[in-house]
Amino acid sequence: MSESNKNIKRLGIMGGTFDPIHYGHLVTAEEARGRFNLDKVVFVPSGKPPHKKGYRVTEARHRYLMTILAVATNPYFEVSRVEIDRSGYSYTVDTVNQFYEHFDDVELYFITGADAILEILTWKNVEELLSKTNFIAATRPGIELTQLDEVVKKLPVPAYDVIHPLEVPAMAISSTDIRSRVAEKRSIKYLLPEAVEHYIYKNRLYVED
Ligand code: ATP
Ligand code: MG
Repeated sequence: MSESNKNIKRLGIMGGTFDPIHYGHLVTAEEARGRFNLDKVVFVPSGKPPHKKGYRVTEARHRYLMTILAVATNPYFEVSRVEIDRSGYSYTVDTVNQFYEHFDDVELYFITGADAILEILTWKNVEELLSKTNFIAATRPGIELTQLDEVVKKLPVPAYDVIHPLEVPAMAISSTDIRSRVAEKRSIKYLLPEAVEHYIYKNRLYVED
């Protein structure tokens, strides 16, 4: 464990495909950091996302580099390669366990959009996950926090102890929309950091061939 990790007591993990990363992700992570007093937020781009089987996902090296570019201006944000470097599908429970091994005495907060939490029952080892990790469920347009109640009722543990709802400034930004905009030659300005926008054009990502 490096010296700088010793004082990390409350750590946020922001998982995602980040294909590409956008201001919805960044605002959510920053809001979670402030609201839950997190010492740091680590962005974890997924290697092979199990829920995106059958979709075309951009090469991990591009998604990783775009995430690095996006967080560069925030001293509390970092990017981890754990899921990219692990073989097989990326499961949150494996990631969380790797973080617990790496940091002494840390409390983990897994930050996710409420849309992802609605699917938590399908996640690998959900019981183990809920027993050792806090979840921050951010609202995004189209998802009512009350929808969460339905899911929470079916969970194996009293989930409101570990699932914390978080209202973030409404942002209808999604990676799917950004990818179609690029393919249709429409502007993506102001939806994501400029450095990421330039990276997309330079590497001709999301253009249909
Ligand atoms: P895609 O459209 O390809 O599914 P996405 O925009 O949903 O991409 P992901 O990488 O799938 O991005 O999302 C990573 C995490 O960020 C998920 O937990 C998702 O719910 C959350 N998230 C994505 N966009 C927003 C947003 N605009 N506001 C709040 N949370 C978001
Ligand atoms: Mg998504």
